Amino acid sequence: MILIWGFKARAKTVSTGEFFCSRCGADRSYVLQQIRRWFTLFFIPLFPAGKALGEQVKCSTCGARFQSEVLNTPTSASFSESLRGAMRVASMSMLEAGDETNDAARLAAVDAARTTGDENYDETWLFNDLAAVDASQLGEYLTPLAQGLNPQGKETFIEQVARVGLADGPLSSSEMHVLETLSAALGISAAHLRGIVVSTPTGPRSPSTGDGPPDEYRRN
Ligand SMILES: [Zn+2]
Repeated sequence: MILIWGFKARAKTVSTGEFFCSRCGADRSYVLQQIRRWFTLFFIPLFPAGKALGEQVKCSTCGARFQSEVLNTPTSASFSESLRGAMRVASMSMLEAGDETNDAARLAAVDAARTTGDENYDETWLFNDLAAVDASQLGEYLTPLAQGLNPQGKETFIEQVARVGLADGPLSSSEMHVLETLSAALGISAAHLRGIVVSTPTGPRSPSTGDGPPDEYRRN
């Protein structure tokens, strides 16, 4: 009799979870699969041959397959959360670096928080944030933004924080220092930062409406 044997790649589910599928453009559930070669006899897989060939992430909705690194990208939900957190911590740092009792500066900080989707943010929240926010947490919030925000989104972010600093007059050196720290974390050069500061309007802006971060913060 003729033996028909060969090898076949098979995927085994290792874990499941939620990720940001770039094909769907939304948060989806995924299965993380391990790919192995199996020895087959008469087309029936008998046993795994050799080490695993690698892993792949499969979107449960559209079926697209990605390398497992895709799981390092934050989901939309956690990205929005990071954006809101980062804006609050950044504008508190800016207020503390300048005159935190200045009404125009406080108004600009409330406005900055609202642009990232915290629609109910008001003076009371601001008061609590000023007492509670730890500026040393800023880096933690900015890391996902550095990956997820597109260049326009990064500029908008810096511009919002610059407005808070500019509301009580020209930027002091400690206010400038806050912007430099933000820019460095987001990969914006010193020259680019100067350009953003020069073009930042100082008047009040129209409040944003709608759920979640507005389009000006479009992610990559
Ligand atoms: Zn998908």
